[in-house]
Amino acid sequence: MSGARGVAPAVTPLKQNLIGLLTRQYAVWADRRTSSWDDAPAFEGPVPGNKGSRRTSGVRQPPGRLLVIDDSKTDRDGLMLLLESRGHSVKAAKHGLEGLRILDRHPEIELILCDLAMPVLDGLGVLKMLAGRGDLRRHPVMILSSLDELEGVVSCLTAGAMDFVRKPFFPEEMALRVHNTLTLTRTLNNLSSLAHRDPLTGLFNHRVFVEMLQRELSRSQRSGVSLGLLFVDLDRFKLVNDRHGHLVGDEVLKEFSRRVRQVARSSDLVARYGGEEFTVVAPEADWNGLYTLAQRIRHAMEEPCATSAGPVMVTVSIGGAVFDPAREQTPDRDRLLSMADQALYLAKDAGRNRVEISQNELPLLN
Ligand SMILES: [Mg+2]
Repeated sequence: MSGARGVAPAVTPLKQNLIGLLTRQYAVWADRRTSSWDDAPAFEGPVPGNKGSRRTSGVRQPPGRLLVIDDSKTDRDGLMLLLESRGHSVKAAKHGLEGLRILDRHPEIELILCDLAMPVLDGLGVLKMLAGRGDLRRHPVMILSSLDELEGVVSCLTAGAMDFVRKPFFPEEMALRVHNTLTLTRTLNNLSSLAHRDPLTGLFNHRVFVEMLQRELSRSQRSGVSLGLLFVDLDRFKLVNDRHGHLVGDEVLKEFSRRVRQVARSSDLVARYGGEEFTVVAPEADWNGLYTLAQRIRHAMEEPCATSAGPVMVTVSIGGAVFDPAREQTPDRDRLLSMADQALYLAKDAGRNRVEISQNELPLLN
């Protein structure tokens, strides 16, 4: 482990700039994390407490999954020893490229501690690679640097590093900074979940659905590839609540959500529209593709749901509509919603447990 620091050096204008930049960096970084629903993790509830060190004041939390990237074996080993002694699980790499390879194999890594000056790929290079593939939010980076590398630190913070620690560092300071950074990232993840996910089912919420439908429509218009939309409604769901109570109703909603995620493609965006009504935005789906997807969802609910009140059978009715940029110049979100909604009512009227996909010639109700 590197030794303790000497006398604190005078504050230079560069360092003053750095302090200002760091303060702003937290705000920018927090904003980046919450401004996109793409990475919003499924809601997992509050992080359980542990019997962690009392010296890490404030929030108690489970140990982190960390990656140390440093070309100096002494620094690397010292840092691993320190962090592992605090209960964290730590992987290590000799340079940035090796670090990124480890990250690909271990996407569960929560925080990267990365040296600035390294051969092959340095700290700034790691940041740029992560930013380029949109991974900086999922894997925040703390930069480690020596005193004479402050210019580089500024570049790293500008490139999206979450924090930096000067080498040589105090072990206790390092442990606390890691603890605080983990607390911050986990809190932001939970806030992001609360803002973007339906807490019962873990699916995207209504607000995110509206945003992503608009975004996918614009994308469809640009690419010239069609886009499908489904409304899925659980048949006579009120009877389940009346007969078995709302808790059993919730179990059915959760089970439906699990099944729909299983049969949907990874590119399909499933949301809880409200109550027992759900939506699926299906990028690149034409009429046939959307019909096939809808039938898969309908079939998935033809088996009873296991609940605490025993097996409960709930079928679904599904209405869909397709935006085809070859036929319509401008995407009209409300018209698409209205067509899918009307198709759903047709499916209900025709006896439920059915799929109706709009043929695009439906008269609009409004
Ligand atoms: Mg180095």
